[in-house]
Amino acid sequence: MSESASSPASAVDEIAPEKRDFIRQIVREDLASGKHAAIRTRFPPEPNGYLHIGHAKAICLDFGIAAEFGGDCNLRLDDTNPAKEDPEYVVAIQDDVRWLGFNWHDLRHASDYFDVLYLAGEKLIKQGDAFVCDLTPEQIREYRGTLTEPGRNSPYRDRSVEENLDLFRRMRAGEFADASRTLRAKIDMASGNMNLRDPALYRIKHVEHQNTGNAWPIYPMYDFAHSLSDAVEGITHSLCTLEFEDHRPLYDWCVDKVDLAHSPELTTSLTSKGLPFEADKPRQIEFSRLNFNWLVMSKRKLLQLVESGRVDGWNDPRMPTLQGIRRRGYTPSALRLMVDRVGISKQNSLLDISILEGALRDDLDAHAPRRMGVIDPLKVVLTNLDANHEETLTFSNHPKDEAAGTRNVPFARELWIEREDFAEVPPPGFKRLTVGKDVRLRGAGIITCDEVIKDADGGIVELHCTLDPDSRPGMEGANRKVKGTIHWVSAKHGVPTEIRLYDRLFTVPDPDSEADGKTYVDYLNPDSRKTVTGYVEPAAADAQPEQSFQFERVGYFVADRYDHTPAKPVFNRSVTLRDTWATKA
Ligand code: ATP
Ligand code: MG
Repeated sequence: MSESASSPASAVDEIAPEKRDFIRQIVREDLASGKHAAIRTRFPPEPNGYLHIGHAKAICLDFGIAAEFGGDCNLRLDDTNPAKEDPEYVVAIQDDVRWLGFNWHDLRHASDYFDVLYLAGEKLIKQGDAFVCDLTPEQIREYRGTLTEPGRNSPYRDRSVEENLDLFRRMRAGEFADASRTLRAKIDMASGNMNLRDPALYRIKHVEHQNTGNAWPIYPMYDFAHSLSDAVEGITHSLCTLEFEDHRPLYDWCVDKVDLAHSPELTTSLTSKGLPFEADKPRQIEFSRLNFNWLVMSKRKLLQLVESGRVDGWNDPRMPTLQGIRRRGYTPSALRLMVDRVGISKQNSLLDISILEGALRDDLDAHAPRRMGVIDPLKVVLTNLDANHEETLTFSNHPKDEAAGTRNVPFARELWIEREDFAEVPPPGFKRLTVGKDVRLRGAGIITCDEVIKDADGGIVELHCTLDPDSRPGMEGANRKVKGTIHWVSAKHGVPTEIRLYDRLFTVPDPDSEADGKTYVDYLNPDSRKTVTGYVEPAAADAQPEQSFQFERVGYFVADRYDHTPAKPVFNRSVTLRDTWATKA
């Protein structure tokens, strides 16, 4: 499949018309100097879990930079660890990348290159750059030395080329048990960089692979597979996170020693399978990982939350997976805006979650139509209207965007208002509805509360109010000043709606801290989801799944991707209007 890389116009472009981070500077210089005629990047997830917010940064950089400079970007599934990988993840990864607004040039798999990687292993053996080692995993660890002590050479390091070739071929033929041997690079057991102490290139693992089935009893190690996959695809700028900085010398070693451009037997093996080889030598460039407080982002921990049933799956709207935050109501443009605001550096840091939530608020404030929804309903009866009074009001969809148009909002004698917008005994400074005081019903007129109707236990059942006829839209008193304005939904027309009020998944900003022997599961927020039944105006119930609204005065909500239908609406709270945690924390 071959589509051209593209990035849709977004709020990002408004904010940073020209980005000048160090990676884009390198790309600019490489194009200006003629080092590369065109650039190519790749996004290389391992299909061992769902992508998360951190990956959004890598995706935006890999695809975004390629698009900005007229190059292209491959999606490569780094599937060298079959025991942990699953086609379910492969499907979700593609869905996520497209959702973020990007198309890949080619979809590749590291497993597409198993043949050429194997031949590269043989080539290294023939050059005297690799050997088959019989040390057990424990012994290898022992021989490896420490940060302060050099390692020791494996007793198998000086095997002849013939013996190594024979053993490697028999490894490939499946003659040996798992972990009984490895193919190792012959570099330097005294290197200050542990990654260069004769790292393993291949291991024996009799496991079925999702793409190659049982064809391979040996699998290439990450550094070997990754660097050579980049080289095969003609990746010019291989962007990755900082933890790979120490791997760069090994990355370069693999690329240089295998030297695809001068290995016809290797490149023929590629072209014979319809995989072109493009000769640009890849350069690895590292950038800082994206980390936010209040979240955990490691796939292992997310998997544990799912498997232990603490969340409702990978796409639970409280999860930081792209599938989760998408369902929560995060938009691709909000994520691109966040990535842009965060910028790129060489310094890992823990960012404040307000940057993420702020980008969502700003994006939705600019683009989400306004609607009225009541999440904790209290009945108001306008006693001076006829029992069957009904009218249609016209509301603008967006206060700052005339082009967003208008909608019809039904109004009638009985309304729902928010329970907290009424106080029988108002606290100081209360500006909303109380007995004997005026409040404005958004876009409809001014009401006065005359009477509070209670049940036998003293619970408030409904309010009887009078609507001031002179305060109606278009009337002389329409602009009369009152202290407060509240939202409402016509009781007759409002659609009962399941409203899922999501909040942060953890109660502390650093769930990963492991202080006092606790772990992130000890800090789960028991109130991270509350489900209530509210009422929304018909124009909100009518939403398509995944459509976002600002419910005026309440927050930003999205029609649930899976459960919402206009007949049975389900809305998820994406984010509150303001940061309610800033004062709590
Ligand atoms: P995790 O450690 O969360 O399990 P990973 O690094 O193992 O993630 P990969 O599938 O290997 O996940 O990542 C694919 C790409 O995404 C890599 O290039 C990696 O550097 C990048 N990436 C992963 N996590 C982040 C992050 N938090 N911020 C930025 N880029 C990331
Ligand atoms: Mg990884």
